Amino acid sequence: MTLQEMSYGDFGSLLVREGAAARLPLSGSIEITFKCNLRCVHCYIPDYSGRGEMSTDEIKRILSEVADEGCVWMLLTGGEVLCRSDFSEIYLHAKRQGFLLTVFSNGTLFDESIADLLAEYPPFGIEFTLYGLSDETYLETTGFPGRFTRVRRAIDLMLERKLPLSLKAVAMEPLAGEIEKMAAFSESLGLRFRYDGIVHGRLDGSMEPTSVRSTPERVVEYDATDPRRLDDWLKYYRQFVKPTRPTSLLMSCGAGVNSFHVNPQGVLLSCEALPLNGYDLRRGSFREGWYGIVGDIRKRLAGTTNVCASCELRGMCDRCPATAVLETGSPDGWIPYYCEITHRRAALFEESLGNHGTATRYRAHADKVRAGWTPEGAVLPGSASSRTSASPCGAGGCAASGCTKSGASTNPTSQLLQIERPLALAGDPRGK
Ligand code: SF4
Ligand code: SF4
Repeated sequence: MTLQEMSYGDFGSLLVREGAAARLPLSGSIEITFKCNLRCVHCYIPDYSGRGEMSTDEIKRILSEVADEGCVWMLLTGGEVLCRSDFSEIYLHAKRQGFLLTVFSNGTLFDESIADLLAEYPPFGIEFTLYGLSDETYLETTGFPGRFTRVRRAIDLMLERKLPLSLKAVAMEPLAGEIEKMAAFSESLGLRFRYDGIVHGRLDGSMEPTSVRSTPERVVEYDATDPRRLDDWLKYYRQFVKPTRPTSLLMSCGAGVNSFHVNPQGVLLSCEALPLNGYDLRRGSFREGWYGIVGDIRKRLAGTTNVCASCELRGMCDRCPATAVLETGSPDGWIPYYCEITHRRAALFEESLGNHGTATRYRAHADKVRAGWTPEGAVLPGSASSRTSASPCGAGGCAASGCTKSGASTNPTSQLLQIERPLALAGDPRGK
């Protein structure tokens, strides 16, 4: 089959397959800012000030370097991307590099001029995250009045221009009654809709956002009651989870193989939430970082306390080195909330496949975790447990490495982050 005859899906799969062998940076995301005009209850961002973020020129240079290394898919995300006054300049520069460009936004700041720009230079995709279907719900979830009205207007701006918009949501507890309605709302507009039930801890180690997590039962109920969702899961389960074998390596996902992330401070990472093996792109090139310290993450071995490396379900578990760092302070840590969800989910799938014995075994494991069982020797979440809705002392500053009581973050992620800077610049007074 020639390239011209291939569907986009086949082309993408071929590229990823071949690119993985060559470890090409095919897909990347750049958080162009942590600034945001909302304050969502579940948000993972610890600091919205925009302090120390990349300049326009720095972002443009990085985008150019990334394109030179063969990147195909690029995501511009935040924070809220439109909180940068230079968004249009960054967007147009990214377009000029030839990326298949996607933009994530909360949709509340889109106006006619941005919509016209996107219509003239169309992105590959635009995704708005919904935080409700009414101004009242938005007030509860984002802290501001009138925001759904704004998003609704922005959706119309996109639809009028036939832009490739899709909608998504976080199935957190305050939205429990609205997810189905959001799906119906999206369908009525002819838009794709997806949602995820997972809420992570904040990047500074605070578990405060997890207070709005849905219960494991509700997360799995979403899968069980949505036939399309269940069907997609079952396909994934059969194809990618069932063959899972034990590994001696820390990383099981594709981060750092074909994909990368750049945070607002210009640190190149293998994944947006994994604060290990970072490279300071303000001081060196993307190529040096990608083929240097960032690539080395793939060689890291799982620690002796890592009970997940031998787990047959880890391919579908939201516990990974990144979430483990966020919740336990260690990339080898174990997270009961995710373990329970994964085993309840697997029980549902095995039941659907007619394997009642395996389903019973998985459900029994989930119940055991719910009852407080922990694997021997595992590194566990700190006192701000994923199963409690707030820190026991009420300070909200708990983290795996210890509670400050004052509510100030102990920031386990920044304690772990190793950022490599080129030796030639080691004496640079701007260093550190
Ligand atoms: S819109 Fe996104 S970045 Fe802004 S506060 Fe909400 S979750 Fe955080
Ligand atoms: S948290 Fe539990 S289900 Fe997830 S990978 Fe670890 S052992 Fe497996």
